[in-house]
Amino acid sequence: MSDSEIMLSPWQTGFRGRCPRCGEGRLYKSFLNVTDQCAVCDLDLSKEDAGDGAVPFIVFLVGAVCSGFGVWLHLVVGAPIWVAALLLTLLCIILVLILLPKTKGLLIALQYVNRAGDTGQNTFED
Ligand SMILES: [Zn+2]
Repeated sequence: MSDSEIMLSPWQTGFRGRCPRCGEGRLYKSFLNVTDQCAVCDLDLSKEDAGDGAVPFIVFLVGAVCSGFGVWLHLVVGAPIWVAALLLTLLCIILVLILLPKTKGLLIALQYVNRAGDTGQNTFED
């Protein structure tokens, strides 16, 4: 890629599950499996993986939201403990399933924009 090429925002590409270079092709071939190659711009994504990098962000965000929701349920609503446990479990599962692919895509797009791979070099093949 030439330096004069315009980089798309990682929020517009990876967060939406799109290719970090063109913003059109799908980033995933299944729920969290990164596709081997972009179907639109042929960017090689086979070596790209954010690993467990998205997990700490998800843990902190979902933990904060669910903790606040749990306190609200107990102190304001006065819900029984089994209702609170059930609702918090469901809320945590739903939030993780929604946020995990978006956060992983965001990290992959940030790696692409900043040319940072596991080896310290851009692992994307141009
Ligand atoms: Zn692409």
